[in-house]
Amino acid sequence: MKRTAGRGVVIDKGTPDFVTALLGTSFNAQDPGRRPDQIVQANDVEEVIGAVKRARDEGLAIGICSGGHSWAQNHIRDGGMLVDLSRLNSIAINAGQGTAVIGPGCLAGELNAALVKHKLFFPVAHAYTVGMGGFLLQGGFGWSSRACGVACQSVIGIDVVLADGTLVHASETENAELLWAARGAGPGFFGIVVRFHLRLQPRPKFVGMKAQVFRIRHLEAVMAWADRAGPDVAPFVEFQLVFDRKAMGIFAHGIQVLAPVLASSWREARAAVDFIDKSPIRKLASFTLPLLPVSLDMMMKGGERTLFLPNTRWTADSMWMNMPIDPLLPALRHIADTQPASPSHALWLNWNGPAERPDMAFSLEARSYLALYGGLRGKTATPADESWATDHMQALQAHSVGIQLADENLGRRPMPFMAPANLKRLDALRAKFDPEGRFNPYMGRVL
Ligand SMILES: Cc1cc2nc3c(=O)[nH]c(=O)nc-3n(C[C@H](O)[C@H](O)[C@H](O)COP(=O)(O)OP(=O)(O)OC[C@H]3O[C@@H](n4cnc5c(N)ncnc54)[C@H](O)[C@@H]3O)c2cc1C
Repeated sequence: MKRTAGRGVVIDKGTPDFVTALLGTSFNAQDPGRRPDQIVQANDVEEVIGAVKRARDEGLAIGICSGGHSWAQNHIRDGGMLVDLSRLNSIAINAGQGTAVIGPGCLAGELNAALVKHKLFFPVAHAYTVGMGGFLLQGGFGWSSRACGVACQSVIGIDVVLADGTLVHASETENAELLWAARGAGPGFFGIVVRFHLRLQPRPKFVGMKAQVFRIRHLEAVMAWADRAGPDVAPFVEFQLVFDRKAMGIFAHGIQVLAPVLASSWREARAAVDFIDKSPIRKLASFTLPLLPVSLDMMMKGGERTLFLPNTRWTADSMWMNMPIDPLLPALRHIADTQPASPSHALWLNWNGPAERPDMAFSLEARSYLALYGGLRGKTATPADESWATDHMQALQAHSVGIQLADENLGRRPMPFMAPANLKRLDALRAKFDPEGRFNPYMGRVL
C-alpha cells in the first residue's frame, strides 16, 4: 500500500492487503474471481483527479465504486484501476433552499438521518448501506419514488471528473448533456461523479407500514389479487409482495404483503391501505397487521436484518412486465417451489408509474416488476440454488420488456435497460466525453 501525493492510497495486485481491500468494497460476499491491477482509495476530489490523470497516462481502464452495492459487482473487473470513492461521503444540507450536496460514498441511511433533523426528505434507497453514488446514477427506486419520482429526477447538478482529468459541473443549464446521461446511465456512466447536488422535499408527516402474510399455497390467489388491485393503489403506497421461506410471523414459506406508506397524515395513510383489509382474499391470510407508524430509519435497518443480509453470496436478476400476471402464475409457482432458503427472496412490485417523465437517460419502466434475489450462506448451496435468479428470469425473458439497472445481471444475462434511442444517445455522449474508452462499459448489453 502506498500513498502517492494527490493521487490517493494505491494498493497493487499481489500485495498482502489487496484481496481484502478489493472484496471489502463489495456488499455481495461473492468472490467473482476478477482482479483489477490496482485499487486507488481516494480521500478527496483532488485525489480522484490525480488518479484519473495517472490512469490516462498509463493507459489503464477505470472501474468505479461508491457504496459497493452493485449485486453484479460491476466495479470488480480484470485489469486496470479501481477507484474506491467510499471516503467521499460528505453531506451538506441547505435547509433554507431545500437542497443538499453529497459525496458519492454517502450512504442512503446517513442521508436520511441527516434530513430528519431538518424535516426534509429525499427518496433514498430502501436499505441503509446502499451508496448514493451508484443508486442515483442508475435511476434510484427510492422510498416513495412512485409519488415523488425516481431519485435521479431530483439530481439538479453533478460535479464530474472526465476521462482527461478535468473537473466540470453539469446542470440543466451547463453541460446539460452530462446531467442527462447521469440521470440513468448507471454502471455505464463515462466519468466519476464526485458530488451530487440534490433537490429536497418536505418530509411526509406520516411514515408507516401495513403488512399481511399468507402461506405459499395461496400464491395464485394473492398474485392475481395484487396484480388487479395495483393500478388503483395510491402512488404514496409501495405495494409489494415478497416470497420468503421464513416469512414474517409464520416462519414458514409464505408471501408477505408489505405496504410502506409515506403520507401527509395518518388518516390519509389509513384510507390508502384500506384495500388490504377489504380484499376478497383477506380470509386466506395467516394474519394482518394494522397500519403501524415506523420510521424510515427502522425500515431501512430492518430490511438489512431480515431480507438483505450482508456476508451473503448474492445473485439478483429482474424483469419489468406490462402484461397481466395470470399467464405467469405457473412460472411463479415454479419460482416458489425452487426458491433457496432465506434470505433468498422474490419481490413483486406494483409500479404503474406516470405517463411521462423528464427527458433523461432513465427511460425504461413498466406496469409491474419482478426481481429475484438469490442469497446463499455457507457452503451447502446446489448449482440450481446458485443460478435460481438467472435461470428463472431467463425462462420468463419473452414476457419482459427489460430490466432495472438497480438489479442488473448484465454480465450473465444482457437485457434492455433503456429505450433504444436513449442508449444510442448515451453511446454518442460516451464517444464524445470518453473517446479512448477509459471508463469500463456495461458488463453486457443488448444492441
Ligand atoms: C441491499 C441492497 C438494497 C438495494 N435497494 C435498492 C433500492 O431500494 N432502490 C434501488 O434503486 N436500488 C437498490 N439497490 C441497488 C443499488 O441502488 C445499486 O446496486 C447501486 O448501484 C448501488 O450503489 P453503490 O454506490 O452502493 O454501488 P457501487 O457498486 O459502488 O456502484 C455501482 C456502479 O455504479 C457506478 N458508479 C458508482 N458510483 C459512481 C460514481 N460516483 N461515478 C460514476 N460511476 C459510479 C459504477 O459503474 C459502479 O460499478 C439495492 C442494492 C442492495 C445491495
